[in-house]
Amino acid sequence: MKRIAALVSLSLLSGVVAAESVTVYSARNDQLVKPLFDAFSKETGIEVRTLTDKEGPLLEKLKAEGANTPADVLLTVDAGNLWAAANAGLLKPVQSATLAANIPAHLRDPGNQWFGLSVRARTMFYNKIKLKPSDLSTYEDLANVKWKGKLCLRTSKKVYNQSLVGMLIEENGEAKTEQIVKGWVANLATDPLPDDTKLLEAIAAGQCDVGIANTYYFGRLIEKKKDLPVGLFWANQQAGGVHVNISGAGVTRHAKNEKAAIRLIEWMSSEKAQNLVADINLEYPANPKVKPDPLVASWGTFKQNQINVNKAGENQVAATKLMDRAGYR
Ligand code: FE
Repeated sequence: MKRIAALVSLSLLSGVVAAESVTVYSARNDQLVKPLFDAFSKETGIEVRTLTDKEGPLLEKLKAEGANTPADVLLTVDAGNLWAAANAGLLKPVQSATLAANIPAHLRDPGNQWFGLSVRARTMFYNKIKLKPSDLSTYEDLANVKWKGKLCLRTSKKVYNQSLVGMLIEENGEAKTEQIVKGWVANLATDPLPDDTKLLEAIAAGQCDVGIANTYYFGRLIEKKKDLPVGLFWANQQAGGVHVNISGAGVTRHAKNEKAAIRLIEWMSSEKAQNLVADINLEYPANPKVKPDPLVASWGTFKQNQINVNKAGENQVAATKLMDRAGYR
């Protein structure tokens, strides 16, 4: 997420005090979450104050502030990041029947310290001139020698790929996953790319035939260039399902406005708010009763992998080491 509008947010922090308020440390784009928080304030009368930064600095700030933190809620992307916050003792468990009902079990912390609010699908994309969907099957298959010189991957430094490999470890075990990742590396068409957009552009340009990316990057590109020769393929549909991750939130360990914090997260999980939560970034609603944005819906439905996304965090260190051993940079 971009580091933006920190000044605006700080001025809000020192602004007029409403009857009730909740302070959110947010690693999400301010312009994207503002309409959401405005709608919540309008409905509940609870003022939402935000401080926006990247997840790393936000976690450091939460640690440094300890019991003095003004933060009531941490809002960020990737289960790996939320797991790290919980693991560092920065969040507290929340017992909420509403969240248990609205958010499927695999998209929230088994210890109830964080809850997925939108789903991000990390699947396969291919060059439509070079390949047809029937050429593709699974993430594991991309290690096959038939893809030599045809695969593009984003850098292993990004938490998205650490989470993906962490989930593959959970599914296949470490030894098999290492063989898969080694196979990917052997098949690379080019050095790992810095971000998912560059990866999709490389596929469009024919630099590689196939790659792995989050669907919302595809959505953003396709909104700009409708005739891009890139297709979306739902991976592992005859196997465990597409690997999903989340954006989500948790109540901070030292929240002063715990009730309002829980109310905000519950509200974000509700049917009326889920489109506001998910559509801002062309993600999928976490609440299965809610339909995605029409563009997102046009890519069809898919089977999600049902392994709890907290495994992305639990296996993060093992995944990082494994990618290093496999020569995935
Ligand atoms: Fe992203």
